Amino acid sequence: MTNILVINAGSSSLKYQLIDVATEQVLAKGLCERIGTAGSNLTYKTADTTIKERPEAMPNHTVAIEVVLAVLTDPAVGVITDMNSIAAVGHRVVHGGELFTHSAMIDEECIEDIKACIPLGPLHNPANLMGIEACQKAMPNVPQVAVFDTTFGQSMKPSVYMYALPYEAYTEHSVRRYGFHGTSHRYVISEAMKKLDKPAEQTRIVSCHLGNGSSISCAKGGVCVDTSMGLTPLEGLPMGTRCGSIDPAIVLILMDRLGLSHAEMDTYMNKKSGVLGLSGVSSDFRDLWKAWLEDGNERAKLALDMFCLSVKKYIGSYAAEMGGLDAVVITAGVGENDRRIRKMILGDLEYLGLDIDWEKNETTPMGDEFEMSLPDSRVKAFVIPTNEELAIARDTYALIKA
Ligand code: ADP
Repeated sequence: MTNILVINAGSSSLKYQLIDVATEQVLAKGLCERIGTAGSNLTYKTADTTIKERPEAMPNHTVAIEVVLAVLTDPAVGVITDMNSIAAVGHRVVHGGELFTHSAMIDEECIEDIKACIPLGPLHNPANLMGIEACQKAMPNVPQVAVFDTTFGQSMKPSVYMYALPYEAYTEHSVRRYGFHGTSHRYVISEAMKKLDKPAEQTRIVSCHLGNGSSISCAKGGVCVDTSMGLTPLEGLPMGTRCGSIDPAIVLILMDRLGLSHAEMDTYMNKKSGVLGLSGVSSDFRDLWKAWLEDGNERAKLALDMFCLSVKKYIGSYAAEMGGLDAVVITAGVGENDRRIRKMILGDLEYLGLDIDWEKNETTPMGDEFEMSLPDSRVKAFVIPTNEELAIARDTYALIKA
């Protein structure tokens, strides 16, 4: 049996996919929204049907999982006959701190360790645990696996993950670089490795996850060397609404001048900054292009320029850090769909050995996987749509087989 149920539980939402890892096909997927409030609803879809939506009373995650299992096994719209057709459940868990260096089978000890990481992932880990506990109740005999966003970054060296603060910030408060989007980076890097004409262990790849949240990672032989997000997802690139890396003294100065509380400063940097804050237009790159190209909005152009420059600087610094570069991979909502952004990022990188097929960049349908570099380019560039659910399903299956 090769059907894996992948669960991504948020505080009021729960996404699922049922994936057959033998064929890597998605049999069914869906989303429970507004769990715990009036007006909760289920959206679901199978390989052969269009998206359907219906109201479902879901006072908590336990009921949400029951609703998901009911729709998966429903004689009319379901795709499996009963729960025995599910080999295992794979859960996305955001923060594994230093306790998890790989995906893990869920048992009591694993749950205690995920709880111990709550201070590092206070918004996400409790919600992820609700999803795990709900599945344990509904499917007590089905093995469960936790796949963490942070394990990919656990291979970074101390000289990469430490901050130059008093050492006790690390030993007493776990302040270090963890990195996020790890499952996405790991997935696209492993796909890119298969396409390179080089022994896997020698590959040096930079992966650019450019979405509403954005981060860059680099890996040698598929093992993470560095990544742009830090203790939290705020560090690194300017994002949709996050400021990314700034002079840390700015925080103190602005809190003082604007009289902001901790919570207000947090919102200022996480929700009001990035390309939204710069442009005053939107966090969505489609809106930024429209504002610049149709209305000549200079601040929208500034936001686009700053975003692309930041990505370019990471590519250069990571090539230096790895002692060379074999491929750049671009993924996620902006990377997979925005040809102009790809052009701004990868333009003028011939000096690194990157020769791009600009025609292909223009003509390949949005969301498709393709090789962006010319056949004789020394360094390759790929657009590879990310698939975190498949990566979670693969890990889950590998662990239950072991
Ligand atoms: P999340 O971080 O929420 O998972 P995604 O990876 O789905 O985000 O990326 C969403 C973002 O992708 C949107 O905010 C938008 O900026 C961008 N995007 C989506 N489609 C396009 C497009 N056709 N052109 C440019 N940007 C796009």
